[in-house]
Amino acid sequence: MIIPFDYLIIGAGLFGATFAQKVSEHGKTCLVIEKRAHAGGNTYCREEEGIHVHEYGAHIFHTDKDHVWQYVNRFVHFNHFINSPLANYKGKLYNLPFNMNTFNKLWGVNTPAEAKAKITEQRSLYQQITEPKNLEEQALKLCGEDIYRIFIKGYTEKQWGCPATELPAFIIRRLPFRFTYDNNYFNDPYQGIPIGGYNPLTVGLLKGIEVRYNTNYFENREYFDSLARKTVFTGCIDEFFNYTFGNLDYRSLRFEHERLEINSFQGNAVVNYNEASVPFTRIIEHKHFEFGQQAHTVITHEYPLNYKVGIEPYYPINNENNMKKFKQYKEKSILNPNVLFGGRLAEYAYYDMDDTIEAALLLAKKELRI
Ligand code: UDP
Repeated sequence: MIIPFDYLIIGAGLFGATFAQKVSEHGKTCLVIEKRAHAGGNTYCREEEGIHVHEYGAHIFHTDKDHVWQYVNRFVHFNHFINSPLANYKGKLYNLPFNMNTFNKLWGVNTPAEAKAKITEQRSLYQQITEPKNLEEQALKLCGEDIYRIFIKGYTEKQWGCPATELPAFIIRRLPFRFTYDNNYFNDPYQGIPIGGYNPLTVGLLKGIEVRYNTNYFENREYFDSLARKTVFTGCIDEFFNYTFGNLDYRSLRFEHERLEINSFQGNAVVNYNEASVPFTRIIEHKHFEFGQQAHTVITHEYPLNYKVGIEPYYPINNENNMKKFKQYKEKSILNPNVLFGGRLAEYAYYDMDDTIEAALLLAKKELRI
């Protein structure tokens, strides 16, 4: 029997599209199947009269990996957007990430020395914490009382739907903390939004590759498996194995997109709402990612949402219980070398876009033995 493809790739998100691009470039044949009506996974943008609306949440590309930056620049060019979000707490606006602008507004301190003295005082109560066991301990040790209470506790607990004491410490280590007047949310040397939004990146990656949309692998597994020598699965690993070891938890999101006939709603791409009592976590104003000059604007309220099987999973919840289950799935996945797993959902990892692309390139190179 002739097997038509070298690889069946399930999911046309960044992992699947990157893997497909790399192996195709080296002569392999791929079929990509995608349950949604479009590629790009959660980077997909819908165009609203010149504004690229990040339908599944804001995506800002940033990386410190030279090879990933060079790779994506083969397909798109990036603008000079620098993410400088604001935090709204009880109607007052503060700069993020935590930097001299934030400390100045919060405590009236002007110099790094004054700010460091204030932080040291704020942290002093928590220095007995040597190895932070959870997000709360990590945040208090790093930032002290005021910052934790104003910017972190409320936001984090609504974002994740559980007490900060039940969350892993690493989540908060993503946020920079600095003593300069620098509002750049990221420390990476490369940052920007693809010119024309994210869809041209996906289109570039998938050029010349067969993609079948609105196609759900689970509706006809045997048939799809018969189409290729190997399978690359980028969906939820627990679903792949029929939830044998139980469901993995995720945090989901609900987006309320709204078009307004005004030029600018908030003057910035991202404004976080850090109070626990405000039900959404942030408002995104999409045109500012691309310095849009349109007469209209599109904003999105982002609401955290409990996950249940059937709705979109966004963030893996990497606590002990879930990681134990994931380990079982992972061990099972290694048993069949013809099925490969990759991406945020299959690896149950809080990946950024550059991590995803790097992991896909690595897997492709391993397959190609290059
Ligand atoms: N976070 C916070 N306050 C903020 C922004 C972020 O406490 O104003 C915490 C929160 O726990 C969040 C984590 O930092 O889940 C990571 O934030 P980031 O903006 O990197 O998350 P993402 O953009 O992936 O949602």
